[in-house]
Amino acid sequence: MILHIARLHHPVTALGPGTRLGIWTQGCALACPGCLSRDTWEAGPEHAVDTRVVLEWCDRPDPAGIDGVSISGGEPSEQPEALAELLVGLAERGERHGWDLLCWTGLEEEDFADRCPKAYARLDGLVTGPYRVAEAGGGRWRGSANQRLVPLTDLGRQRLGRWAGDGPGSGHPAELQFQVEDDRLHLIGVPRPGDPARIQKALAAQGISLDGVTWRP
Ligand code: SF4
Repeated sequence: MILHIARLHHPVTALGPGTRLGIWTQGCALACPGCLSRDTWEAGPEHAVDTRVVLEWCDRPDPAGIDGVSISGGEPSEQPEALAELLVGLAERGERHGWDLLCWTGLEEEDFADRCPKAYARLDGLVTGPYRVAEAGGGRWRGSANQRLVPLTDLGRQRLGRWAGDGPGSGHPAELQFQVEDDRLHLIGVPRPGDPARIQKALAAQGISLDGVTWRP
């Protein structure tokens, strides 16, 4: 089945516990004001990848060095059937290798479960809710204070539970990774308020100017 993908990355260490595979889906109609990932809004045929190809990519690194898979976007719930197929494959690998499966959605938990029941049933954790710029700065791995980290299984509670109730200013570490791909610089993780502008300024001081950024139209 075809899944629209923005990008894949390994290792991801700034989005979820431990060392992870990262899968960013393409396409989001929620259009949260202040979204940092406007490049993932438009779905198109150039982003179409067979879920089998994504799973083959997941099999490339040594599974013993992977703790879990982070699925973000874009809005993963916009592709419920392909997401379910991907998660069936990931859950089978998760059982074999001890991976947890964590997904970010701009929907609330109930709405995600209604739209994607098969995917929801396979997840160990869900980060829910739209990004709200007026509440920017959330708990660990969340961009704004309204967003919730919801463990869904025993494994999820074990790995995510200690962070589920935290909020802005709770002392969780600031985590960001950078990925350079051709002439693009990708940020992985959830920046704190002001981080994108600070990064742009720091790069400019090194003589690196960004022609376009994904957090402005
Ligand atoms: S913050 Fe997430 S849910 Fe909101 S518009 Fe951006 S990609 Fe979509």
